[in-house]
Amino acid sequence: MKKRYWNEKCECMDRTLLEREQSEKLVKQVKRMYENVELFRKRMDELNLKPEDIKGKEDLSKLPFSYKQDLRDYYPYGLFAIPLKDVVRVHASSGTTGKQIVVGYSKKDLDLWSECTARAFTAAGLDENDFIQVSYGYGLFTGGLGAHDGATKIGATVIPTSTGNTVRQIQTMIDFGSTALCSTPSYAMYLGEAIKEAGSKDKLKLKAGIFGAEPWTEEMRKMIEEALNLKAYDIYGLSEILGPGVAYECECQKGMHINEDAFIAEIVDPDTGEVLPDGSLGELVFTTLTKEAFPLIRYRTHDLARIIKDKCECGRTFYRMSKPQGRSDDMLIIRGVNVFPSQIEEVLLNVSGVTPNYLIIVDRVNNNDTLDVMVEMNEDLFFDDVKSIEKVAKDIETKLRSVLGIGAKVTLVGPKTIERSEGKAKRVVDKRKLH
Ligand SMILES: [Zn+2]
Repeated sequence: MKKRYWNEKCECMDRTLLEREQSEKLVKQVKRMYENVELFRKRMDELNLKPEDIKGKEDLSKLPFSYKQDLRDYYPYGLFAIPLKDVVRVHASSGTTGKQIVVGYSKKDLDLWSECTARAFTAAGLDENDFIQVSYGYGLFTGGLGAHDGATKIGATVIPTSTGNTVRQIQTMIDFGSTALCSTPSYAMYLGEAIKEAGSKDKLKLKAGIFGAEPWTEEMRKMIEEALNLKAYDIYGLSEILGPGVAYECECQKGMHINEDAFIAEIVDPDTGEVLPDGSLGELVFTTLTKEAFPLIRYRTHDLARIIKDKCECGRTFYRMSKPQGRSDDMLIIRGVNVFPSQIEEVLLNVSGVTPNYLIIVDRVNNNDTLDVMVEMNEDLFFDDVKSIEKVAKDIETKLRSVLGIGAKVTLVGPKTIERSEGKAKRVVDKRKLH
């Protein structure tokens, strides 16, 4: 039988034991950071906290939060906790606003990272017999090399195509016999479209896809599975904490198991920072327990999710997190109503005749917020009569009004008129910010 766990001892550890280990690691990490990271020491001092006040996991909520802005303020190396000579890799992310942020890894940190991604690949049913095509960007972005090292660790054959050159990606996928694909979900969709056009779906040998680095819905999962003829798995990560591999899906696909031997996750109220009761939707906060070069305590991710504590049928004891259901900083406030792009995407994916390629345009006209959604039709609808097209647009408007609670104007556009992305998709243009 196929091995389902990469590290059974760890992934299926008794929870009492796991939590005791988390506590021990936390105490050590806090002490080390107090000694080595100026900002952390300053924040602890402001709260009149000493490392000895932290006796275990139960004291976690006493500790100060850390924020993305800290990474910008202490750019590039101000938050590193080890001498730079012991840092063996840096990665960076630009985000959508402002200066880039830099994160670093020691040799041990890179081992932890590949261990985490190896667990994800194994949970997706992959092993040394597989050919894993890594179509995440290689470079400062953590996706490419993160997936690469995990795939190497399980002994699979890595096909490091990186992003771009879609025609060659597909040719490589066919000729080299790729059995797994790693990319952003939007790029997987794009590849799926191109494969359909080329009529080469029958030539694919893909069985699994590991997709992450941007939010995606269950409906999109179905479309990718259909387009590429594979089983699609979600993987979660962010460069500040590790990169891909912080949490991963097992075959049950009911949330992503958090690598809790290395990270503690909390859910807090995005406004007050208060820890929320079990099962609540709120902002994910991560603490790294063992990272050496770039440890963070209570890092505010802005991702909105839930933690699932029920037992999983796969046998892993790690708690799970739901798919992020938006970002607290992606949330659009339109006419006083909170709107997440993912809500709009879910509506579109349930309407026949349109594709999940869309652009949300928010503007302010005469002091009134406007919401316009441009949606691409598929070929069938595009060649249908005007009346049918108008009917679909009206239908989407009705559904959006009931889901969002506010009206939106829907414009259907021809196939392939909305720009595609090879990395993270751009779905929102908020013109109010340009005025
Ligand atoms: Zn599971």
